[in-house]
Amino acid sequence: MTAPNAARSFQPSTTHVFHRQLQHDLPVAVSGRGITLTDSQGKTYLDASGGAAVSCLGHAHPDVLAAMHGQIDRLAYAHTSFFTTEVAEELADVLIESAPQGMSHVYFVSGGSEAMEAALKMARQYFVEIGQPQRKHFVARRQSYHGNTLGALAVGGNEWRRAQFKPLLIDVAHVAACYEYRDRALDETPEAYGQRLVAELEKTLEALGPENVIAFVAETVGGATAGVLTAVPGYFKGVRALCDRHGILLILDEVMCGMGRTGLLHACEQEGVVPDILAVAKGLGGGYQPIGAVLAQAKLVYTFRQGSGLFQHGHTYLGHAVACAAALAVQRVIQRDGLLVQVQERGQALQSMLQSAFGAHPHVGDIRGRGLFWGLELVQDRASKQWFDPALTLHARIKRQAMAQGLMVYPMSGTVDGRHGDHILLAPPFIASETELA
Ligand code: PLP
Repeated sequence: MTAPNAARSFQPSTTHVFHRQLQHDLPVAVSGRGITLTDSQGKTYLDASGGAAVSCLGHAHPDVLAAMHGQIDRLAYAHTSFFTTEVAEELADVLIESAPQGMSHVYFVSGGSEAMEAALKMARQYFVEIGQPQRKHFVARRQSYHGNTLGALAVGGNEWRRAQFKPLLIDVAHVAACYEYRDRALDETPEAYGQRLVAELEKTLEALGPENVIAFVAETVGGATAGVLTAVPGYFKGVRALCDRHGILLILDEVMCGMGRTGLLHACEQEGVVPDILAVAKGLGGGYQPIGAVLAQAKLVYTFRQGSGLFQHGHTYLGHAVACAAALAVQRVIQRDGLLVQVQERGQALQSMLQSAFGAHPHVGDIRGRGLFWGLELVQDRASKQWFDPALTLHARIKRQAMAQGLMVYPMSGTVDGRHGDHILLAPPFIASETELA
């Protein structure tokens, strides 16, 4: 008898790399300089998305390359169960000096999903250590993405990414994110809309029993699910107060929106709130090395220290010396060259350019963002805000068209609450000139 799949004829593949997209061949990137990448055919691409909001200093920055070479010559790797390294200590010092108030320690990982896994486990262990082991629920937001590993995927809300893995995911209660363009009522002020969302969150906490909840998890500025969702004024302050009232931790995921992308080092500074746990990644190492970090409030670290004496979590490449050297160099360049101010100024310029180019476009429903982090929401019709049919795979076609014309943008589609939308995300390197932005 023939096996069910045996009749299918498979096209021979030109690659042995198990790419995530298996239907189209990809160009082969061979070099990068400043804000452009070049492929093996000699074609250049303007990197308007920093890859996936990663390359904040562009490509081949000499200071970062020199720091990495210097570190490799001295020491590439030392396992964290045997040693710490000077470079990891120095990077942690730099991050804590500029961290939100009360943060005392940094846990280094290799990327955003790992940062979120560590954040979730850190929060759970904290309550076990302080004698509240009944706390076992996370509450997160529907319009969100926190990574692709199982814990991070469970707190994320993008159904398209979660659907087939649902049986493997921990149970998480999801509430609405701040999605002003679609969900604020016409007769509602932004502040009243924010308060309504906080009240809805409170109802969810009450249904679970707030004493059973570990943490509320949110991206400070939403990225990869609904195209740059900024919160309305007061929303995060309301969330913070609610968490405090019930002894629930606040975990902010700034893997995409953090490390200067929105014009301040941490996006939560713009909201006037301090989280208990803050996850960062992408812009931390600017793509020069895989690195992420979890910044934690002193109360968590001291609890672990006085209790079990260890955080029950770890990976082989924690605090990799070359990754720390790259991140340290990236952060020093940002400070030395005043790049946060540049992000604010260039961000305003980019906003005006987007408004004048697309502000009246029949298929651009909303242009929103902060700093050098901008999203365009695509609609069939501006009046009804109706999205395009997902079967059109508009986001994928836009990406192919842009690449054909030598431009990297980060279009995506998100499915949340059965609603499906196409967005284009722009996250150019902080070093982009106004001409390059134009
Ligand atoms: N959290 C957010 C907000 C993200 O945008 C991403 C990636 O896009 C992640 C977590 C996962 O990071 P990584 O892809 O480095 O694992």
